[in-house]
Amino acid sequence: MTKRGFPEKWLKEHVEYDGDGCLIWPFAWHSKGYGDVRIDGKGISAHVEMCRLAHGEKPFPEAVVRHFECGNGHLGCVHPAHICWGTVKENVADKDVHGTAQRGERGPRAKLKRDDIRLILDRLAAGGTAVSITADYGIGSAAVSAIKHGRTWKDAVNEYEQARFEAMFEKDGLTFTPSVWRKPVIVELHGEYARAA
Ligand SMILES: [Zn+2]
Repeated sequence: MTKRGFPEKWLKEHVEYDGDGCLIWPFAWHSKGYGDVRIDGKGISAHVEMCRLAHGEKPFPEAVVRHFECGNGHLGCVHPAHICWGTVKENVADKDVHGTAQRGERGPRAKLKRDDIRLILDRLAAGGTAVSITADYGIGSAAVSAIKHGRTWKDAVNEYEQARFEAMFEKDGLTFTPSVWRKPVIVELHGEYARAA
């Protein structure tokens, strides 16, 4: 049970966080993968509260939080430098860029198909450059990097990585267990937070 007020305090202490990678909400989440925080007795999404703390009040009433940098809102990212206020239209465009709109290829304007991800990862594993891939697939180098690091197309990248690990383990006569390679996405709680969690 998290101590009352700690999630709010944690948010305030991370308003100027500028670490690499996403800052994943370490407290309670609601069903869609977004963090939940109670402010003055009212439930609010953690990324919305972080956006308010880091970037000020909503600039206009219909403003929504964009995860323009990483597209990992659905994974609980509250990194202040990954989010900003924007329009619903911009938010939808971000999801296209990050492949989170209706899970990649089913999105209306996605350029890549699931099979392409496997081929791109094969090329990267074989030493292929991002430049050659951007030219062949008509995507930017940021998109290639996002695939390489599993920030987009997570399902396809996980599937690819799992197959690669299975092959490696098999070669060594070992049994593969997914927990060996799956990276934790929840940040660790330190100090007083750890003791209270
Ligand atoms: Zn992020």
